[in-house]
Amino acid sequence: MAGLETDSRRFAAQGRKRLSPPGYIGRFAPSPTGPLHFGSLVAAVGSYLDARTHGGKWLLRMEDLDEPRCSQPHADEILRLLEAYGFEWDGEVLYQSKRKEHYQAALDQLVENGHAYPCACTRKEIADSSISGVEGPVYPGTCRDGLHGRAARAWRVRVNDVPICFEDRQQGRHCQNLQDDIGDFVIKRADNYFAYQLAVVVDDAEQGITDVVRGADLLTSTPRQIHLQKLLGCKTPEYLHLPVVLNEAGQKLSKQTMAAPLETGDAGSALIAALGFLGMDPPIDLSNASGAEILGWARIK
Ligand code: GLU
Repeated sequence: MAGLETDSRRFAAQGRKRLSPPGYIGRFAPSPTGPLHFGSLVAAVGSYLDARTHGGKWLLRMEDLDEPRCSQPHADEILRLLEAYGFEWDGEVLYQSKRKEHYQAALDQLVENGHAYPCACTRKEIADSSISGVEGPVYPGTCRDGLHGRAARAWRVRVNDVPICFEDRQQGRHCQNLQDDIGDFVIKRADNYFAYQLAVVVDDAEQGITDVVRGADLLTSTPRQIHLQKLLGCKTPEYLHLPVVLNEAGQKLSKQTMAAPLETGDAGSALIAALGFLGMDPPIDLSNASGAEILGWARIK
């Protein structure tokens, strides 16, 4: 592999390598609602290479909280595919569906400290009475001061009228005013499932995640997660949001947009395409190599 110098390895080489981070712990956190597609592979490759390049750990977490949409067979299929592609994760896989008491404890803590409150509003009521924000209607605060005799459906966390800013390692500085852009947001849903925003904060903290590398579709979720980290007394990790893979119609690849599932036999071509997407330029002779060899090439020593 002589001569494969790093100048074209844009993702890892353009100054985004952190200076000797102590005890780097990264993660990949797929939702097992279906097979992995190319967009999820880019997140897996990006988070894996960043962790290994920093001599860190790479943990796997199944974000299977939304039980009607997730399944163990999908989770098993994801693990088989990652293995076939040469990924090696550290420790046991964490399943969010088995950790509800941890999310409940975080909710209890927020309620006790006056940061969370029950909400009786339906989606329709909110849509009818609110302005639109970065991700749909901004919650107008109807139940902030009480339920007014109505039954609780969901739980929300209070937000403030102050910008929350962070330096993303890939996207630069990003700020959001949660009050203007989002409103008090749901942390336990009306169908009784804990919301992604709460679970991800609890798990990133308990797993000691120092660096989150994931798709930029989650950039606008990060200020909500930082807000919860502050309220729960958790450290804020470093963030690196990777460019999102779009299909020809300009839509994000997903189950809803019918993204093609990855096949276990396509490790070489899919990994090389993922490295290309991340701005690296793998040599042609790598196309016959195994997944582990390709990932080994891409790792900056
Ligand atoms: N489970 C999320 C997804 O599959 C990723 C969450 C995260 O990385 O924070 O899109």
